[in-house]
Amino acid sequence: MADVIALIFDFDDTLVPDSTTKLLEEHGIDPQAFWNNDVKQFVTSGFDNTLAYLTLLLNNIGGSKPLGNLTQQDLRDFGATLDQFLYPGLPALFRDLKKEVANFPEIQIELYIISGGLQPIIEGTKVAKDHFTAVYGCKLASDVDSGPLKYIQRSISFTEKTRYLFEINKGITPEEASRNPYSVNRSIPIEKRRVPFENMIYVGDGVTDVPCFSLMKNLGGMGFGVFDPGEKSSAKRALYDFLKTDRVISMHAPRYRKSDELGSFLRTAVVSRCAEITLRREQAQGGV
Ligand SMILES: [Mg+2]
Repeated sequence: MADVIALIFDFDDTLVPDSTTKLLEEHGIDPQAFWNNDVKQFVTSGFDNTLAYLTLLLNNIGGSKPLGNLTQQDLRDFGATLDQFLYPGLPALFRDLKKEVANFPEIQIELYIISGGLQPIIEGTKVAKDHFTAVYGCKLASDVDSGPLKYIQRSISFTEKTRYLFEINKGITPEEASRNPYSVNRSIPIEKRRVPFENMIYVGDGVTDVPCFSLMKNLGGMGFGVFDPGEKSSAKRALYDFLKTDRVISMHAPRYRKSDELGSFLRTAVVSRCAEITLRREQAQGGV
């Protein structure tokens, strides 16, 4: 069985600027008021952050409301407009990595997105269709397939992101997980897991990524933090300081070209992991 390396990305502000903010702008909703007043108010009243924003989105759907009769298909169509906003060096990075890994026999690379954003938006992008094995994001549901969105189907907040790292680790596909949501709790000996944590690289930008970074750190994977130096928001700055001071991970601007810091580190991280796996195999066979 081939060894699998998994490169896992957050989506918003990691691969593209925040997609929900763009969706709001597109429909004439003021994102500042939405995030800083409405969501904040819900959170203060006791809502979980992700459930607050999803509920507020639903409150804006229907008839003459700003999001109109928004459907799943509308979200996918909106997602299809986002590829032009991918950060520099994408999607070339994904092609480069697949090419590099192809030089090593019996090793493959898989790409994943774990996001607190809306899954159909991400799945609507060309980059997700072309390059990613699975996308995990929040989901809304309607009464009938083409009907307006009415319900929260899945909310991925904070520590829940780590659940999907374990699904990837244990080789549980999204289809299998939806048939049996508790399959992730199945006990599988460490050496039998499909994607060992040492073969995982996680890239994210926000507070919701902190549990994933911790898990990477504790279980032998690698974490890369994304921070836009042009970012003025004080929350981002605080996170940046927190991550830097605690040396949880290294922080880089979201630029993925070969000549960029992050783009070059990710290429190096993947290739050196491939070399380690190859060396380990040769040693196990009594070679070198
Ligand atoms: Mg993010």
